[in-house]
Amino acid sequence: MSAVWTDNEVTPLDQEPAKKPKIELETHKLEKRLCRQVGQAIMDFNMIEEGDRVMVCVSGGKDSYGMLDILLKLQARAPINFELIAVNLDQKQPGFPDHILPEYLKQLGVPFHIETQDTYSIVKKVIPEGKTMCSLCSRLRRGILYRVADELKITKIALGHHRDDMLQTFFLNMFFAGKLKGMPPKLVSDDGGHIVIRPLANVAEKDLIRWAAHRQFPIIPCSLCGSQENLQRKQIGNMLRDWEKQYPGRIESMFTALQNVVPSHLMDTKRHNFRDVKTTGVPCADGDKVFDEEEFPVASLPSLQMVSIQV
Ligand code: SF4
Repeated sequence: MSAVWTDNEVTPLDQEPAKKPKIELETHKLEKRLCRQVGQAIMDFNMIEEGDRVMVCVSGGKDSYGMLDILLKLQARAPINFELIAVNLDQKQPGFPDHILPEYLKQLGVPFHIETQDTYSIVKKVIPEGKTMCSLCSRLRRGILYRVADELKITKIALGHHRDDMLQTFFLNMFFAGKLKGMPPKLVSDDGGHIVIRPLANVAEKDLIRWAAHRQFPIIPCSLCGSQENLQRKQIGNMLRDWEKQYPGRIESMFTALQNVVPSHLMDTKRHNFRDVKTTGVPCADGDKVFDEEEFPVASLPSLQMVSIQV
């Protein structure tokens, strides 16, 4: 079953690499990687199940176009049956080209729904001139999408956040909210009524940029309303990119860390029972090393070097 989701089969393109132009091979590899990473996330977090009606939220940005594109490819060969319904919310931003998405989705042949709600006027009325509008705008959008999900009898809401969004959220929470908390691949919505999934959880943003360019998605910018981008998120994004440039492989390592939490080595008394710690008499590799120098073998991450820290 897993092989069908993640597509490990050999194709004619794989068999004759020398005969194919480099760019075509690279694109083919990118497509395989995207399908594999999305398929893996779907399996690891049990995101999509038999009979699901998945609402694919499409904004007109590169990420949501990419998500829909890859989900359609996976749907065609998935070991289970599920439906994809693309949903776009037209918020009546000035200059929003409302013909682009319906035309694109029609041509794709995917069932879709365009919900038109003028949240732009509300946000403009409430938020003072010059202040960022994104927070209220997205709160209104969320409420509308939940209602639409109910009306369309949706069982999963799929959002186009990717690996870099998730890491940025992790650092935003750490730096500005004092929490070790990221953006979950699958969680119940804040109103308790929906399951939200993020099938691009394993996908790097740079791959989505390349895929969007290759597929020539008709991108609609989100900033039509003239609102400022979230400055803190932008700063964190720049910080992560700088780190990656200086220490290649660091993003991959941090992303792996999100999947390897060791509560006994943190300080949250709600996650680990420090009060009742007792000796076991049994050696444990993860036990405290007292004054020993800690080593960090990173054989599974070839781009990183061995690091040791004096404690
Ligand atoms: S950029 Fe504009 S449309 Fe996009 S979330 Fe912010 S306020 Fe809303």
